[in-house]
Amino acid sequence: MVTVSSGVGNKVFRRGEVLLPEDGRGGEIGHLRVDFAADAPWCDCGERGHLGAVASGRGALRAASVLARRFPGSFARSALSAACGGDPERLSAQQVAAGVRSHDAFAVRAVTPGVRHLARTLAVLHTALGVGRFIVMGGFARAAGPPYLRLLGTEMSKAGGFLLPPDGAAGLLRPGAPDDDDGLIGCLRRLERSESRRDAVPQPVFPVADGP
Ligand SMILES: [Zn+2]
Repeated sequence: MVTVSSGVGNKVFRRGEVLLPEDGRGGEIGHLRVDFAADAPWCDCGERGHLGAVASGRGALRAASVLARRFPGSFARSALSAACGGDPERLSAQQVAAGVRSHDAFAVRAVTPGVRHLARTLAVLHTALGVGRFIVMGGFARAAGPPYLRLLGTEMSKAGGFLLPPDGAAGLLRPGAPDDDDGLIGCLRRLERSESRRDAVPQPVFPVADGP
């Protein structure tokens, strides 16, 4: 599971069990440093250049604002400019996501560097652990929709990985629940699993055949 919202997070599941040691390490790809520039964006944890700072909804908004100031002409012709009345200061992450969903070239250009960092991180998970399915959820990913997942898949394919599907890494990606209720669904399945544990039959939190 990968969450792309105001931050970036993850959990890895194997046969219904989350891979998380008792000390809680794991699931924190959002705090992996990916941008080593001296002026890399600040993460909300207080460090610079973390994945959560560049690939989250807030990171996408920051990237779009920087790009708008650098290329005002391109910005003026974009759907983002129309959405915020031409003022980059009034731009929102939701508007950037909507721009990606509608294939606005400026919005896609703005989010691509952050998506690339996320894609490389997911490619490492796939290559190192054999993670075979990535459920991509969170408000920003959901709002940006299928074009966002395709972009993520394209960038994952470029990053490479052992035994990627014939159709590229996009085949590994699935959207979360349309209503973004993934957390509630996960809680319910966890409870169901606890109830059935007496039978000692493993119950996947996210059944492979049925999606999230
Ligand atoms: Zn951080």
